[in-house]
Amino acid sequence: MRSVDTHCHLQMTQFDADREEVLARALEQLAFIIVIGDAVDGCLGALELVRPNVYATVGFHPYHAVQYDKDAENRLEEFASRPGVVAIGEIGLDYHNEVSPRPVQRRAFEQQLALAARLGLPAVIHSRDADEDTYAVLREQVPHLAACILHCFGGGVDFASKCLDLGCFISFAGNVTFPKAITLQEAAKRVPLDRLLAETDAPYLAPQPVRGKRCEPGHVLHTLRFLADLKGQVPEDMQAQVVKNACKAFTIPLPD
Ligand SMILES: [Zn+2]
Ligand SMILES: [Zn+2]
Repeated sequence: MRSVDTHCHLQMTQFDADREEVLARALEQLAFIIVIGDAVDGCLGALELVRPNVYATVGFHPYHAVQYDKDAENRLEEFASRPGVVAIGEIGLDYHNEVSPRPVQRRAFEQQLALAARLGLPAVIHSRDADEDTYAVLREQVPHLAACILHCFGGGVDFASKCLDLGCFISFAGNVTFPKAITLQEAAKRVPLDRLLAETDAPYLAPQPVRGKRCEPGHVLHTLRFLADLKGQVPEDMQAQVVKNACKAFTIPLPD
């Protein structure tokens, strides 16, 4: 079974010169990919890329939380009704780059989670240096969600354990492969195989051995191989399990 990339941003300008080539390569290597929205333009860009085996999510990233007013919510709800949309996201809290003030981020996060619950959609969560507050919000809201995916997991074992207890899926990006990422690797060891996901977050965070280059969806295979090693799994089995998890988390039919 071919693998999947559950989180990439192929609509971003880093792919303007060769987007169709990157997409063609991705679909040759992978069964499907999910292009993640981050504000109105990013959502429209993701929606434009929807086609067989290319899905989209729509949401306002914490960087853009200040834009999340009633009009934005109405637009988001309309975006979410379009074909190929599989989740609300990415949404969450980012206290590392406090582009929007914390209370504004939190309000936008809670309102979008409520929308996801109302629409019966899963949510893709971005949490950076905000794990305590992210958990406080998730504890209230995850029980109402179809599924919850913590993307580009950046926390430690404790945060992972607490989120697993809520029923979340935990997704690792290329940074888990970096030699100094011991905390992340410990967290990855703790995640049961049936809750584990992998992603690229392309164009960012290219894994070893392509670190530092522009990341693209096929690079998820390096991260998967690393995770299989870390968890003492046969790579093919773990890959098949991760595909199964992705299909379950995002309600996507299992590929052949
Ligand atoms: Zn993110
Ligand atoms: Zn992202």
